[in-house]
Amino acid sequence: MKLLIVEDNLRLARDMQQFLRDNEFVVEIAETFREASEKISIYQYDLLIVDLGLPDGNGLDLIREMRERHLDTSILILTAKDGIADKVMGLDLGADDYMTKPFHKAELNARIRSILRRNKFNHSNIIRINELKIDLLASQAFVKDTPLNLTKKEYDLLLYFIQNPNRMLTKESIAEHLWGDHIDQSDNFDFIYNHIKNLRKKIVSAGGGKVITAMYGMGYKFSRHS
Ligand code: CA
Repeated sequence: MKLLIVEDNLRLARDMQQFLRDNEFVVEIAETFREASEKISIYQYDLLIVDLGLPDGNGLDLIREMRERHLDTSILILTAKDGIADKVMGLDLGADDYMTKPFHKAELNARIRSILRRNKFNHSNIIRINELKIDLLASQAFVKDTPLNLTKKEYDLLLYFIQNPNRMLTKESIAEHLWGDHIDQSDNFDFIYNHIKNLRKKIVSAGGGKVITAMYGMGYKFSRHS
């Protein structure tokens, strides 16, 4: 899962980034309204963490902008203690939840997981698709009841595929989602191939079938049949 932290307090942003990376997220930072606005116009994120008080703009306008562009990106607002009006406005604009500073990082992580579960996985910690079962809390995938021994990248890949069933995912979008925004500087995305090959092999040998297919060198598709 890929997140964007919009926060002008760089120390706090870096601190959150490290913590969330340790919790298996791909995490980018934008320090200003302008930088954030630029990033959301180019890249896709699963969730945005938005500090409302930015030096060059109001985070609320960013939420508005986000809602006009990407309906399926979740939004978590960060506010100061007395920002009741802002919280209400933010939620009205389509934010999913808010947190008041200062907060505990463990709570931040729990809120993010809860929002993503609600928005992407229909409130459940267990996802079933075809013969696959994924336990989100344990970060463990199964084919029927056989646990798959996946690397972190393979697991993240699988999660990205099952969020986008029957859709062609380009190599570029897979790379950005799993490795971060900077990857678009890369002129070659062949490194993805090995991760996908290994993931497919593990699913097939556990009896899960050929669910991931290559699309004419453009990208890959996960086929849902149940
Ligand atoms: Ca601020």
